[in-house]
Amino acid sequence: MNRDDALARDAQDPLAALRDQVVRHDPDLIYLDGNSLGMLPVATRDRLAHAIDQEWGGELIRGWQHWFDLPIGVGDRLGSSLLGAAEGQVVVCDTITVNLFKLAWAAMAARPGRSVIVTDARNFPTDRYVLEGVADHRGGSVRFVDTDPVHGVDAAALAAVLDDDVALVELSHVDYRSGALADLAALTKQVHDGGALVLWDLAHSAGAVAVDLDANDVDLAVGCTYKYLNAGPGAPGFLYVSRRLVDGLESPIRGWWGQQDPFDMDQPYRPARGVARFLSGSQSVPGMYAVDSGVDLLGRAGLPALRAKSLALTTYLVDLADEWLSPLGFELRSPRDPARRGGHVVLGHPDAYRIGAAAVREALVVPDVRPPDLIRLAPVALTTSFTDVHDGVARLRDLVAGGSHETIDVSSRRVT
Ligand SMILES: *Cc1c(COP(=O)(O)O)cnc(C)c1O
Repeated sequence: MNRDDALARDAQDPLAALRDQVVRHDPDLIYLDGNSLGMLPVATRDRLAHAIDQEWGGELIRGWQHWFDLPIGVGDRLGSSLLGAAEGQVVVCDTITVNLFKLAWAAMAARPGRSVIVTDARNFPTDRYVLEGVADHRGGSVRFVDTDPVHGVDAAALAAVLDDDVALVELSHVDYRSGALADLAALTKQVHDGGALVLWDLAHSAGAVAVDLDANDVDLAVGCTYKYLNAGPGAPGFLYVSRRLVDGLESPIRGWWGQQDPFDMDQPYRPARGVARFLSGSQSVPGMYAVDSGVDLLGRAGLPALRAKSLALTTYLVDLADEWLSPLGFELRSPRDPARRGGHVVLGHPDAYRIGAAAVREALVVPDVRPPDLIRLAPVALTTSFTDVHDGVARLRDLVAGGSHETIDVSSRRVT
């Protein structure tokens, strides 16, 4: 548990050099919130500066000649290097919220006679809201799976809600609160055996854990790029549609970018062949470059190496928390088995809100807080060292032991 041990782990870490490939304004800041907003890669900063000055500034409208196909090209690179998806099935566009709407709507339309969407009762709010909206508009309903707050959705809970009325099952691969990693392969098969389509939300898994969409026969998936893919605030999301299905599905948003020939402007709407039909309208070019650059960085490190380091980091973090934080009233609210976790760890503490705020203001540690009582800590393989984990947990321990969080007023915080 001493600092030399952390330094020794860093010396053995094959990915240690990556830590210097992100922008660090304050070398003392320990950033443990890369699962909400990944850090800025130096390469991305430079690529965006070039794109804005030379391409937007210099090429002007001529730039669209090579910008137009970025959602498909970047989608292919993301799919092949991090999602286990062969080309032609991933596009980078819009947000999870919008992509979820498009795919859930299309899936319902593809299963006439079935009117129920199943999702996790504890799923991220946008997932629950969008699915309820789709079900309402299509005269269907949402059925919630009752899941364990620590371990997430499992086969028995899912079996209890599956029947012949279910058109679509939508689940998060990694639970945004507890970090529980769902058994994507087994649950996908279970949904298929029940005759429904499956849609996975990869928000907390893309770039952190293997998903193997093709090998696991997944139908549909959505994800964002500002978390583990480091593409920046508001960067575009992505969607995946299996090539088995895509030509039988239609987007409810009939935009010109999803048309067979977007520049044949007198044509009535005919959906493009393949996944391009799920594009809507103009996409952010700087956003596409940021995704591409993040995918490139992670792809060069390689997902197996990133996952191996992430498992070592979260295991180390849990060991330190057991030793130093448990006596101060913290308890582990993530699965203890590392193989059942994604890239982050959650601790419960009755004073989580004030501890989170005090950590940022007084200890230069950035965790995030999920009210009422959860503190999420994400030691991201790309940007976090073992020494960061050691020092971060030590700073939290000292802060809470000293009681300095008790005077914090958090009544005016808007974003948690
Ligand atoms: C972060 C996250 C989202 C965010 O959706 P956006 O439309 O990209 O804002 C959605 N679902 C889950 C599970 C998330 O963790």
